[in-house]
Amino acid sequence: MADAVATAEKSFAAACDHARRTALLASVEALLGWDERTMMPAAAGGYRADQAAALAALVHRERTDPVQGERLAALAAGPLAQAGSPETQATIRLLRHDFAKQARLPARLVEELARACVEGQQAWARARADASWSMLEPWLRRIFSLKREQAACQLPDLDPYDSLMDDYEPGARWASVAEVFGRLREGIVPLVRRCVEARKRPDDALLRRDYPVEVQRRFVQEVAARIGFDFERGRLDTTDHPFCSTAGPDDCRITTRWDERFLPTALFGVMHEAGHGLYEQGLRRDWYGLPPGEAASLGVHESQSRLWENLVGRARDFWTWCFPRARAAFPATLADANADAMHEALLRVRPSCIRVEADEVTYNLHIMLRFDLERAVVQGELDVGDLPAAWNDRFEADFGIRPPNDAQGVLQDIHWSAGLIGYFPTYTLGNIFSAQLMRAALDRHPGIPGEMAAGRFDTLLGWLRTEVHAVGRTLESVPLVTRATGQTVSERWLLESLEERYGPAHGF
Ligand code: ZN
Repeated sequence: MADAVATAEKSFAAACDHARRTALLASVEALLGWDERTMMPAAAGGYRADQAAALAALVHRERTDPVQGERLAALAAGPLAQAGSPETQATIRLLRHDFAKQARLPARLVEELARACVEGQQAWARARADASWSMLEPWLRRIFSLKREQAACQLPDLDPYDSLMDDYEPGARWASVAEVFGRLREGIVPLVRRCVEARKRPDDALLRRDYPVEVQRRFVQEVAARIGFDFERGRLDTTDHPFCSTAGPDDCRITTRWDERFLPTALFGVMHEAGHGLYEQGLRRDWYGLPPGEAASLGVHESQSRLWENLVGRARDFWTWCFPRARAAFPATLADANADAMHEALLRVRPSCIRVEADEVTYNLHIMLRFDLERAVVQGELDVGDLPAAWNDRFEADFGIRPPNDAQGVLQDIHWSAGLIGYFPTYTLGNIFSAQLMRAALDRHPGIPGEMAAGRFDTLLGWLRTEVHAVGRTLESVPLVTRATGQTVSERWLLESLEERYGPAHGF
């Protein structure tokens, strides 16, 4: 028996080394990707594509190395899978799960999908520019069909949509997500109506004054550092489509775009990405590259970004601290303003066709629409050709307006043409988790709002570090949030939080 344990421990160490080496290669891939979107000169694109493809092939070979597969199968049947530490057990279970998923995909399918997604994104850019659905439809038809094939191969016991969601939100199932989303929609549709029909409308002109970019840069860096983003282990750069990417245990890259006539673009963009960055910087360094040191899911990741962006950044207490800083940074622009006016300006609800421009209240309606439509297509209940009409009908039912053309409707997002199907629900799950986590943090530490007003965020961040970040991927999102909050996952706290903040701003 002691021999069996010693053998298993040796084999576990080898499996971890292998996974760490894969993570190291993937981190180089991430660094190249970051560079491509922030620094790379335009003419370097061709060679960069070759570099990226070469690395992707290396990473894929590591991820499907049969030696690692055999090792993981033996470990799963050995003593450590039952009697190892919780981290060891989770590592064996999850490395095996990930490996088996990859190994079940035929190489032909992986290649065809990669090609279809590159071509699909190019077709999408042209189709969107021309507002022409027919230019994209054949590509989307092919991508949905390949993704159905992927779903059936990788997790054959699951419904196709559940299998696809597993790539982004492990353990999530359509039936339970749809139930929570259904109740959320029932609460949000009437809330949006009340805001739109309200006599009182928050005036957001204050946000549309002169905010010189160089001053914004210093200001948002100060805010990001203050909430806890460690600039010794990360940096902020400029890009067109902001993201957060990790290139190593001490190297977290956040990005933003700037609008000198609209402060929220960079301020909330940076608070959002810094929220992602705080999660990455809070993961366990001793397990870097292994499941206990990885994020639990995209939904949990988004809960961290949304919590800092919306539940901190749009809170009145936050502006008690932040407004004097803002006025010191932009003295002429904000000479006649105050914290109350600033806070109220941030709470304007304005239904619009474009998801990425949506306010906090209508945003989830955009997501739930995409979730229902993509699931119907994957399950064969809706034909790809019927997507534009289904989109517009649902949009009109939820928002009371009809998109004037497909560029403002079904063609607006890159996700489907990039093969990201089953990804959209993680945005709204993140919002739901964020409100539930914030409620629990406030119940546990009632002093948090007062600290926020004084520009102190360490109690809140400390609670998130312990309850969320340190857990890594050892729990799936729903058990993680349930354990952290002592409550089953529910849309209730998100609805409460939206009503509490947006009602008074609209006079109800
Ligand atoms: Zn995000």
